[in-house]
Amino acid sequence: MEHTIKTSKQDEMIDITNIIQDDVRNCNIKDGMAIVFVPHTTAGITINENADPDVIYDMLATFRKLIPEDESYRHLEGNSHAHLKSSIIGSSCTIIIENGRLKLGTWQGVYFCEFDGPRTRRFYTKFIE
Ligand code: ZN
Repeated sequence: MEHTIKTSKQDEMIDITNIIQDDVRNCNIKDGMAIVFVPHTTAGITINENADPDVIYDMLATFRKLIPEDESYRHLEGNSHAHLKSSIIGSSCTIIIENGRLKLGTWQGVYFCEFDGPRTRRFYTKFIE
């Protein structure tokens, strides 16, 4: 299934766990695998803690420090930092589905990662039974 997401900052991580879980329910998948994919070169997908929002804050702050925006990159579009972050994070994730539920850990959530926003973005979910 295709989803559109509007990001509102240059970099942010948006919890999309509920959207994926709703797709699992709507497709009536009981046991299998969920694949989440981002068709962008300056965004990504990752799984991390969704209990304490400071974890996400720290992750984004550390990415900014590790991969500065104003290095002397060659890419003329000026967003090489976002391309680098996208490749480090990765563009997909796979989650086990059991009894109609995503088999995530208690503190885990699936995040859409924006690194060159704000933009209108897309991501896809696909299920294998
Ligand atoms: Zn670019």
